[in-house]
Amino acid sequence: MSGPGPKTTPGAAGAAESRPNFIRDIMVEDLKAKKYGDAVLQTRFPPEPNGYLHIGHAKAICLDFGLADEFGGRTNLRFDDTNPEKEETEYVDSIMADVKWLGFHWEGLFYASDYFDQLYQWALQLIRAGKAFVCDLSADEVRRTRGTLTEPGQNSPYRDRPVEENLNLFERMRAGEFPDGARTLRAKIDMSSPNMNMRDPVMYRIVHASHHRTGDQWCIYPTYDYAHGQSDSIERVTHSMCTLEFADHQPLYRWYIEQLGIFPSQQIEFDRLNLTYTLLSKRKLLQLVNEKRVSGWDDPRMPTLCGIRRRGYTPEAIRNFCAAVGVSRTNGTTDIAMLEHFVREDLNRRAPRAMAVLRPLKLVIDNYPEGQSEEFEAQVNPEDPAAGTRQVPFSRVLYIEQEDFREEPPKGFFRLSPGREVRLRAGYFVTCSSVVKNAKGEISEVHCTYDPATRGGNNPPDGRKVKATLHWVSAAHAVEAEVRLYDKLFTKPDPNQVEEGQDFTANLNPDSLEVLTGCKLEPSLAAATAGARYQFERLGYFCVDSDSRPGKLVFNRTVALKDTWAKIQKAGS
Ligand code: ATP
Ligand code: MG
Repeated sequence: MSGPGPKTTPGAAGAAESRPNFIRDIMVEDLKAKKYGDAVLQTRFPPEPNGYLHIGHAKAICLDFGLADEFGGRTNLRFDDTNPEKEETEYVDSIMADVKWLGFHWEGLFYASDYFDQLYQWALQLIRAGKAFVCDLSADEVRRTRGTLTEPGQNSPYRDRPVEENLNLFERMRAGEFPDGARTLRAKIDMSSPNMNMRDPVMYRIVHASHHRTGDQWCIYPTYDYAHGQSDSIERVTHSMCTLEFADHQPLYRWYIEQLGIFPSQQIEFDRLNLTYTLLSKRKLLQLVNEKRVSGWDDPRMPTLCGIRRRGYTPEAIRNFCAAVGVSRTNGTTDIAMLEHFVREDLNRRAPRAMAVLRPLKLVIDNYPEGQSEEFEAQVNPEDPAAGTRQVPFSRVLYIEQEDFREEPPKGFFRLSPGREVRLRAGYFVTCSSVVKNAKGEISEVHCTYDPATRGGNNPPDGRKVKATLHWVSAAHAVEAEVRLYDKLFTKPDPNQVEEGQDFTANLNPDSLEVLTGCKLEPSLAAATAGARYQFERLGYFCVDSDSRPGKLVFNRTVALKDTWAKIQKAGS
């Protein structure tokens, strides 16, 4: 499953834990060789609190926590908060809630900022060892003298500053004597290294900004590269998984640890999750929120964990999906249909069934006595007999789906039409006798007769068969609801593919949200509370939205029933 292009990993959910992957192989080897003595395996999940977690993070979380769990190890949650300007407590809280929701428990809860003192001490140690220097070049000059992939960089004129002068300047940087950007602390490595990351990288920059945890205690902040490996080391992380774009940073990660002689955490890179029709970049998701292209981070069309949770996705489905996607050493793109497949698979197992009519058309049964009603017993979930049965009321006037009736049925249309008999699920067989139209010529009512010998929707004694089964809701008993139908947020498989001068918002799907009002639901749904998930028969999976109120129900369509992924799988096997 490596290589570019959509991945077609078969989805054997449940077998998640036993699926081979190269990171697990490394762990098995390390444990066998007692690389870390008798220490248990230690991982960490290191989000930067500058946005909400998305489905890509779920993959990293499943790896970090899942693999540690598998080997009896531990996982820390560590906020990578080295960047004071973009980070907020709101994000910290949402990240913790999302990790818990996915079903994982962290051992230690840390912040990179917990280590600012230690990192500072280590910086002094590197300066004393002649391995770091204070550089007066501006960010621009540093960039210009860095060289290119084919040309070496130039040594900074400040590179050979005496140790004492470096110590003095670095302490004054910390004391706030210099403005933002005036100086940096750089590691002294090799300006002609073929690896750009090794060309005297910046360790500290001056930023006079309040930090969400350390307040105004610091005005110098460590870079990601200087902070990450040492934070791992402090926590005695044995296996530090990160995405492939950090592979080129690994020599630097190791260099700091080796120079300081501290616990040798090892970095292992894996492929980022990319999904068709989806953007997984916090910066771009933030732009959608700020420009009000969506209702917020938790808009059900967003690939954020809070968004897909609100939409009705289950943590089990996401974990199964992540396991099936697996890991590799090459980036690729996963078909969004695969994610939807795992959602359906899980909801099929657990979601109670209900009947709901989204675009109602009145159906009147002329030979059913007015004022009479009866109740039918229907299964809550045929996949789960233990879930029992529910009562569904039936009466003379029902609603069916507009699209289930055609006055002039095209070839291949087997649902209701004049003279045609169909089954009403768990109800009766009905035959259409006539239609009533309004002043505009639209069909406002369909009239039928029913056959009492088909009670419960069973075949009649004469063995007559019908070709279609429709869902329905009794008009007198129906509860009304708003139903929000979601489609892909972007129209292109790669939303970043745009004409010159455009950005990804040009690919937003104008029809990604359709709001239906006046939908008719079976009365058992009247008390449904936010988060409850159902299969609306023949339509798909739906869940109660957080906007829902008693008497003013709101449902989200999580996913329609049709499983394109299963078809792709079938065609491929
Ligand atoms: P984004 O591109 O969304 O801003 P990021 O890498 O900057 O992502 P972090 O908060 O730093 O976000 O990510 C925390 C962890 O999650 C990192 O280890 C990162 O490698 C991993 N991660 C982020 N995005 C993905 C993804 N699409 N697939 C797999 N892992 C990811
Ligand atoms: Mg990052």
